[in-house]
Amino acid sequence: MALVVMKFGGTSVADPEKIKAAAAKAVREHKKGNQVVVVVSAMGHTTDELIALAHKINDDPPAREMDMLMATGEQVSIALMAIAIETLGVPAISFTGPQVGIYTNGVYRKARIRHINDERLREALGQGKIVVVAGFQGVTDDNDITTLGRGGSDTTAVALACALKADVCDIYTDVDGVYTADPRVVKNARKLKKITFDEMLELASVGAQVLHSRAVEIAANYGVPIHVRSSFKDVPGTLVVKEAEPMEDIVISGVAYNRNLSKISLLGVPDRPGIAAEFFGRLAENHIVIGMIIQNVGTHGLNDISFTVDRAEEKKALKIAREACKALKAKDVIVDSNVAKVSVVGVGIKSHTEVAARMFAALARNNINIESITTSEIRISCLIRESEVDRAVKVIHDEFALGEAA
Ligand code: ADP
Ligand code: ASP
Ligand code: MG
Repeated sequence: MALVVMKFGGTSVADPEKIKAAAAKAVREHKKGNQVVVVVSAMGHTTDELIALAHKINDDPPAREMDMLMATGEQVSIALMAIAIETLGVPAISFTGPQVGIYTNGVYRKARIRHINDERLREALGQGKIVVVAGFQGVTDDNDITTLGRGGSDTTAVALACALKADVCDIYTDVDGVYTADPRVVKNARKLKKITFDEMLELASVGAQVLHSRAVEIAANYGVPIHVRSSFKDVPGTLVVKEAEPMEDIVISGVAYNRNLSKISLLGVPDRPGIAAEFFGRLAENHIVIGMIIQNVGTHGLNDISFTVDRAEEKKALKIAREACKALKAKDVIVDSNVAKVSVVGVGIKSHTEVAARMFAALARNNINIESITTSEIRISCLIRESEVDRAVKVIHDEFALGEAA
């Protein structure tokens, strides 16, 4: 008997028919004699709609109340999923994050799971029930509801799989695996049979929405393989594993993008030790996640410091930058709300020195200006104009011949 965690994303539970189809998949697993935990996201675009609703009242709503609001989306799905499973004749029970005991820290809207109390889950599984758990949500030690960041249901699923020592963690979604690029942008993108945790973590961190980066991080730490597969087609998906077979000729695994970035620049900052530490310290205290950091060589004892943030955090980051501007006696703060990032990821980047030059040349040939560059051992990222993202992804994908042959 295996223990299987099956996660269904928003599109996969978008309407009653899709919920019934997902329930049937869970029942099939249960009938094979397996213990089954189902994790669900909110239906369709529910989370976006809830956020929009709050913004009609206040364009900077309090984070605690946003988590209270957003968590309702997943609560609807778990109840409907449990009803659908029971309708198929198998006992089921739904739990919210707080009911199961998914304990997180208190950082609303991007809480991190600290520990999971598996007692109630094990008890229900022991009674032969399919257990349905709300993705994306948890609870603090003070009993406040938190959410794990957009796309966080993947993280709930992987964290439960680790806590329960599951044999499989299946992520059912609206694509049938991880591709060399977002198949919505690059039509001839190729499905990968396997990808390493390291590569998947880089892809997810720079925008490949298919998996939440924290989910990959947890899976890598605990060595739990993830299977990304289609909710709608019964075909093998992509296995995210510790090590894929070494294939000498594969240098690049994929291209990813993030089109929702803002660049904030602090201009005319005094050039002395401790300034960057103080400025980024203020941002860190406020839990702002920083992307790229660019510091220009200054003149007359003054520097310019720029950094990127997710556009959703632009307002908050700008407010902190303006306060820092005054405190640090800098000259000005400016914001650019139309930047984006395109990245290539692959373990072969370590040993193939030509990758960066080829990426930059492909962008140049297509008249796409690179505004700044960052790298890791297995990734190269360029900041570009938002309007050029789709074209940039396609030309880089073509440059490295990642697609299916036409
Ligand atoms: P879910 O609601 O099931 O969690 P998401 O919308 O979060 O689904 O993630 C699936 C989407 O991720 C796909 O529809 C696809 O457009 C996008 N995506 C981005 N990059 C990739 C990639 N490299 N491979 C597959 N899908 C990707
Ligand atoms: N419903 C949440 C969101 O839209 C969590 C998820 O889908 O994974 O971000
Ligand atoms: Mg998702």
